[in-house]
Amino acid sequence: MHCEKCDATAIISTNNGTFCKEHFIKNFERLTLYTIEKYALIRKGDTIGVANSGGKDSLSLLYIISKYFRDTNKIVSITIDEGIEGYRNKTIETMKHFCAEWGVQYRIYSYKEYSGMSMDKITRVRKGIPCSICGVFRRQLLNSAAKENRVDKLATAHNMDDEAESVIMNLFQNDFEKLIRLGPTSGLRTDDGFVSRIKPFIFINEKETAMFAFVKGINALHTPCPYSGFGFRGVIAKGLRELETTTTGAKRNIVNRMLELKAGHATIANSEFLHCSICGAPSSGTVCGACAMKRELANKA
Ligand code: SF4
Ligand SMILES: [Zn+2]
Ligand SMILES: [Zn+2]
Repeated sequence: MHCEKCDATAIISTNNGTFCKEHFIKNFERLTLYTIEKYALIRKGDTIGVANSGGKDSLSLLYIISKYFRDTNKIVSITIDEGIEGYRNKTIETMKHFCAEWGVQYRIYSYKEYSGMSMDKITRVRKGIPCSICGVFRRQLLNSAAKENRVDKLATAHNMDDEAESVIMNLFQNDFEKLIRLGPTSGLRTDDGFVSRIKPFIFINEKETAMFAFVKGINALHTPCPYSGFGFRGVIAKGLRELETTTTGAKRNIVNRMLELKAGHATIANSEFLHCSICGAPSSGTVCGACAMKRELANKA
């Protein structure tokens, strides 16, 4: 198999093209920068927060953002430490090293500090699927961390696989409003309490972020979370992987149709958020999901 741009042997073939190492790197960076420009994800002077889990996707994103924006923008790498034994400890050391090497500020925020309990303890005192509480806390803590660091845009490394999964999950759960909150910039509505989230990798396949990290020598540690088997996302991800093998471009089509749907429902953007009466964060009710869970955990401590 040959590269579509030259005679060299191809190292990857996806719905974004078939490329040799050199043209793959060029195309990967070009596509990321094109997404940033097309959707106006970053403006000169913005403080950019990068949500950094230490995985191949987030380190590749941190690499590109620091390569292209460190001369014009302040960059802060933010890690959430869930407090899961053996899961985050090693990656935090790797990330500290990367950030020091690339001259990026590094901040760590823990569930223990935020809610009084590590994720390991939460799973011991509270029944139910760990990911549901973990997801709510991560979202809220990332937002408050971003605000504390005066971040204008919080970049996450969600790729096309993640986004297609989210679209299908919201369809199955019949949650239309959540569905049209997806896209290169999260949400339809703006609020002073909510830091805008951006997804520069939304048109890049997971396979490509893995290959990019590999060819760039970005040594991301991959330790699976011990609670990861519980989620609905895993089921959808498996189905979509199978679908993509028989219908090339299925994930891209799912993401593109969602963007069209979102564009057609822009009027929802005019409605306002409520604010949590406890922490003040934008919320769909009078108490946000994170504060409701913290209150529940306080009774179990
Ligand atoms: S797999 Fe679930 S519990 Fe583990 S870090 Fe992810 S959201 Fe949290
Ligand atoms: Zn080539
Ligand atoms: Zn709250």
